[in-house]
Amino acid sequence: MSRYLTPTLAGLSPYTPGEQPQDQQYIKLNTNESPYPPSPAVVAAVNAAEVEKLRLYSDPACAQLLAAAAEYHGLSPDEIMPGNGSDENLFFALRAFCDEQHPLAYADVTYGCYSVWCNLMHIPSHILPLEADFSIDPTKYYGLNETIVIANPNAPTGLALPRSAIEGILKSNPDNVVIVDEAYVDFGGESCVPLIHQYDNLLVVQTFSKSRQLAGARLGLAMGNAALIADLNRVKFSLNPYNINRLTLKAGEAALKDTAYFDATRQKIMDTRAWTAKELANRGFSLTDSRSNFLFARTDRMEGGALYRALKEKGILVRHFDSPRIADYLRITIGTQAQMEALIKALDEILEG
Ligand SMILES: *Cc1c(COP(=O)(O)O)cnc(C)c1O
Repeated sequence: MSRYLTPTLAGLSPYTPGEQPQDQQYIKLNTNESPYPPSPAVVAAVNAAEVEKLRLYSDPACAQLLAAAAEYHGLSPDEIMPGNGSDENLFFALRAFCDEQHPLAYADVTYGCYSVWCNLMHIPSHILPLEADFSIDPTKYYGLNETIVIANPNAPTGLALPRSAIEGILKSNPDNVVIVDEAYVDFGGESCVPLIHQYDNLLVVQTFSKSRQLAGARLGLAMGNAALIADLNRVKFSLNPYNINRLTLKAGEAALKDTAYFDATRQKIMDTRAWTAKELANRGFSLTDSRSNFLFARTDRMEGGALYRALKEKGILVRHFDSPRIADYLRITIGTQAQMEALIKALDEILEG
């Protein structure tokens, strides 16, 4: 920290990403990436001719990507906003719909960036505790008269609310934006995209990082009423008009069009999730009913931090959060079947050794 940093920034605690070791020695089950490569259509789309065009700026309107996304989601292009990862879209939304006088409401156990962005932008946080079983009671969000963000399925619990529950929240907060962060929706959740034409206060945020094998490309889509999307564009064009790079625009478009690959890979992950959950339950682990590409699990036989370290020693990285309600739990990304078999073998060695 330099002596020039403002006191506000000096007091900030940034988000801590999961470890990203740059050698390949670990089985990486810690940051909810896909274990599968991008679709062959993506590889073909990001070719030498496109690399040559990198001397030119990318399309600030992202027209071709938006056309593909509109087709896929049954929306019109002006109801969609591409972001540099869904993180950027979430940031744009908080910038647009919250400020010192307009708080953000969210759960105590949820995606860690929400609180970091609130601190960065001086937005007051209204924290709503999850129930004892980590579920969300939607009625706690009724009539809040505040901007709301709900990760659905939630992270790191993996639990999902049905669309009807979100609809109740939308109805009871007609004068405020409800942001639904659907980073994991493709693994068994119920998307709120079909509600967009009914509720002008709904903003749905999705990402290509988890279910479309493009975490490193940085791409997300925010979807909602055209006026909300115009608000997000107002922020984007006040900050970074060329926010999506040329190769990512091509990659995203190809990924959206290859629905067969998308469906096959997310189905494989859901099948591997079911297998892994059963193996863990057989060994006495408690698990939430995860609708995401990770499991959230604990065992009475070892404390969460100790189990995280023991797995790391065996070359397997999982995520452990050192925060009060969830310190006993591990968040385990679903990898390939072979990777999950290696995880189970390592757990047996650790817990029985
Ligand atoms: C991974 C994740 C994000 C961020 O995704 P990017 O598109 O990679 O920025 C946002 N919200 C939740 C809940 C996530 O798990």
